[in-house]
Amino acid sequence: MSITTSVLDELGITCQTENIYHQIISAVLDASEQLELPRRLQLMMAQPKNELIVHFPVRMDDGSFRLFKGYRVQHNNVLGPYKGGTRYHEDVTLDHVKALAVLMTMKTALIRLPFGGAKGGVKVDPYSLSEDELMRMTRRFVSALGANIGPDYDIPAPDVGTNAQVMAWMADTYENISEPSKRLGRAGVVTGKPLEYGGSHGRDKATGQGAVDVLEELLPELNIAIDQMSYSLIGFGNVGSWTARLLSERGATLKAVLDHTGAIVNEKGLDAQALAAYVAEHRGVAGFPGGKAFSEEDFYSLPVDLLIPAALEQMITTENAALINCRVLVEAANAPVTPAAERDLLNKGVTILPAILCSAGGVTVSYFEWKQNRQAEVWSAEEVDRQLRAKMIAAARRVNQMAKTLRCDLRTAAYCSALEHLNKVYNIRGIFP
Ligand code: NAD
Repeated sequence: MSITTSVLDELGITCQTENIYHQIISAVLDASEQLELPRRLQLMMAQPKNELIVHFPVRMDDGSFRLFKGYRVQHNNVLGPYKGGTRYHEDVTLDHVKALAVLMTMKTALIRLPFGGAKGGVKVDPYSLSEDELMRMTRRFVSALGANIGPDYDIPAPDVGTNAQVMAWMADTYENISEPSKRLGRAGVVTGKPLEYGGSHGRDKATGQGAVDVLEELLPELNIAIDQMSYSLIGFGNVGSWTARLLSERGATLKAVLDHTGAIVNEKGLDAQALAAYVAEHRGVAGFPGGKAFSEEDFYSLPVDLLIPAALEQMITTENAALINCRVLVEAANAPVTPAAERDLLNKGVTILPAILCSAGGVTVSYFEWKQNRQAEVWSAEEVDRQLRAKMIAAARRVNQMAKTLRCDLRTAAYCSALEHLNKVYNIRGIFP
């Protein structure tokens, strides 16, 4: 019996291999076996501490009311307050949020941040709402969460479908429903806020910046020169567009982009800055005058040095893995590759740089924002970049070293480094009482 089956059995959960939560937990538990970590840690990792589902009504612009379903999953807080993004998407489910919450525990532990892992979301297509409806829904969601979030307890951030404006509404609502004498400085309840309202320099580009810092550290070992490499991107939202803009500054060639509106290609290189401006206006890459439309199949088959998924989870399946023609797959998105596709890619000799490393820049600058809020300080953009780079490089080295010591792939190594740290802290703290 595999370790995953035996742990899930003990918890009374039937393992479903297609379920994203079970996929992530299986990978984490498999990694824990490499280090022979104690059973109690495996059990604690396999279930979140708290799973909250809220239903709340919101008045629509036409006077009708709509009931929304929101989630907050708090996976683990042995390292510090829970921390994790808030997603607005029509496909949000409890297991999805649980999966993303586990990844947050792994990320914060890998980067050695004093945070635990959480995730939240609302099942909604945010683009189907007017700005006023979005604001009322956000405020009502925060009031439904009530004391389940807080700057010392659980600190949400942006994710797919949410942005700095949504974070500002969240913080403002939280401040308004807090006791008056305790309101000051409560904006630290969320990160990713606008600069004028307690946000940090560099938070917008942080996830892309972190991915680029990791690439600058690890690509030389793989004999890839950043200024001569070509790459394709899946997703051109916050993470994808910033990764592209920062890589273009370093001379890399962006050959193709796929997003929810279609795929575009330009063998000589797409202009990342112009594409970012175009997507901001047209909400997708389709029709971009600097590239040609082509099929999804052609997108995946295009030979490139790097393929960077920066869109949604589980987009790389066995079908498109069979077409993929790259040397390195960089997981700028959370869990973009299914376990079956991962096996196929590794068998083909593709190196996979794992999500808990490559997409950790966002939570790292969120930590800097939280720290600045607590100390009533504003760091310069250069200071944020410098401290982010130091954390990302240290984590990349940790993962590389662990992979060499254990002779394993980089995902397993990243989980092992995170789990080793969590285990040390559990051993020091002990289990209450
Ligand atoms: P976003 O909403 O800004 O962008 C999402 C992108 O995915 C868009 O370009 C969209 O077109 C694309 N997309 C959606 N459906 C698609 C489909 N079917 N096919 C192709 N493309 C599709 O989101 P984001 O903030 O850039 O997040 C992207 C990923 O990075 C997510 O996995 C998120 O959890 C992860 N992440 C984000 C942050 C952050 O700071 N924003 C931090 C860590 C991890």
